[in-house]
Amino acid sequence: ENDEINVCVTGAAGQIGYAFLPLLLTGQCFGDKKINLRLLDVPQAESILQGVELELQDGAYPLLKSIKTGSNESILFQDVDVAVFIGGFPRKPGMERKDLLTINGNIFKKQGQALDTVAKKTCKSLVVANPANTNCLILAETAKSIPKQNFSALTRLDHNRAISQIALKAGCSITDVKNVIIWGNHSTTQYPDVNHGTVLGKRIRQFINDEAYLNNAFIERVQKRGGEVLAARKNSSVMSAANAVKDHLHDWYFGTKSGEFVSMAVYSDGSYGVPKGLIFSYPVTCSNFNYKIVQGLNIDEFSKEKIRITTEELLSEKADAFSA
Ligand code: NDP
Repeated sequence: ENDEINVCVTGAAGQIGYAFLPLLLTGQCFGDKKINLRLLDVPQAESILQGVELELQDGAYPLLKSIKTGSNESILFQDVDVAVFIGGFPRKPGMERKDLLTINGNIFKKQGQALDTVAKKTCKSLVVANPANTNCLILAETAKSIPKQNFSALTRLDHNRAISQIALKAGCSITDVKNVIIWGNHSTTQYPDVNHGTVLGKRIRQFINDEAYLNNAFIERVQKRGGEVLAARKNSSVMSAANAVKDHLHDWYFGTKSGEFVSMAVYSDGSYGVPKGLIFSYPVTCSNFNYKIVQGLNIDEFSKEKIRITTEELLSEKADAFSA
């Protein structure tokens, strides 16, 4: 029905899932749509998943129409409108990047096949589990009957971190900062770009007037913020990741404000010289659960080099993932 939406969350017994579900069920992603919720996790997490279900009942959320839980994608992806992929195999000490890509690649192939077979063809996917861009690419390449335009990976946390750092530096509020960009991979090679952004309507570079900061400490801080949180909290950035999942889905679904863009990792179409067929974070505008990559931005030499570095990393992740 039109006033309902079927949403599946994978890795739903995990930490980000736990922080995200209350945001989803209080209408912060899809407004007052009633939610048919499907929670997927591995069989070993069954008891935890049941505990989450008990708490969701106790939340007495008026928007929660139904819940299904389990570990079978073919059942839980049936007719989904939105799939949020949070579940992934974590990097363990001593593990090579290629091993991680292979293990997660296999998970995302399996999930892509199920999505292809049983989800709605209009289903929108958001991948959070790392390496998010490459996991998303495998998902999109496997679920061939669903348009590539329907797949995205999360770089909104990086985007929000960049906005917040600029607001702190400028001594203004979050809503005064607009149009920062995260280019490329959700990793430390990402490029947080302030060249097209504004603070209180003035160019960020003019307003802040500190080139050394913007070209070095700012970029590095955003790139390595996950590590900073991990070191302080002795746990990963869960609350802010869940909040970014909410922002990503909300803006994709309801649309971005006029004259404003956000960052989403999406299937590259060759824009800005990035090879086609990577999941690459771009500035996008959204409306009606569709996005468009912002075109015509002038990219200076400094930015070109940063974009080249993150592109190289994504190409090598892709090569590793597809050579498995
Ligand atoms: P979290 O819920 O904390 O994180 C889930 C995934 O999100 C990880 O891959 C994590 O990457 C990634 N992530 C992306 N951005 C961020 C960010 N900013 N901060 C933190 N993490 C981020 O992990 P849990 O271990 O609590 O939960 C994972 C769940 O997935 C478990 O319930 C597990 O059973 C399930 N799982 C499912 C699998 C499957 O579906 N086949 C396979 C393996 C696990 P990173 O590892 O880099 O932190």
